[in-house]
Amino acid sequence: MANSEPTVFKNVCPLDCPDTCSMRVTVQDGVAIDLRGDAEHAFTRGFLCRKMARCLDRVYSPDRLMFPMKRVGVKGAGKFERISWDTDQP
Ligand code: SF4
Repeated sequence: MANSEPTVFKNVCPLDCPDTCSMRVTVQDGVAIDLRGDAEHAFTRGFLCRKMARCLDRVYSPDRLMFPMKRVGVKGAGKFERISWDTDQP
């Protein structure tokens, strides 16, 4: 159940791209619930490419990795174990 009112924040796309598209992100209870191009921006005019337009799907995907993982077993076996953020890797 939502406790706070949705708040819209003006941002720019953080991806490494020269377009630097302007966008608006709506946040409610600490969760981004909407992301769209800023239609009022003079240059990008509401545009977001596919990479950023689907950003919230990636951020909140249940498949998103939230911890560092280390491959165990042979490469390609798809087996990993969780490791600490402080673990040194060769
Ligand atoms: S939304 Fe796409 S085109 Fe726009 S700055 Fe980001 S990566 Fe570049």
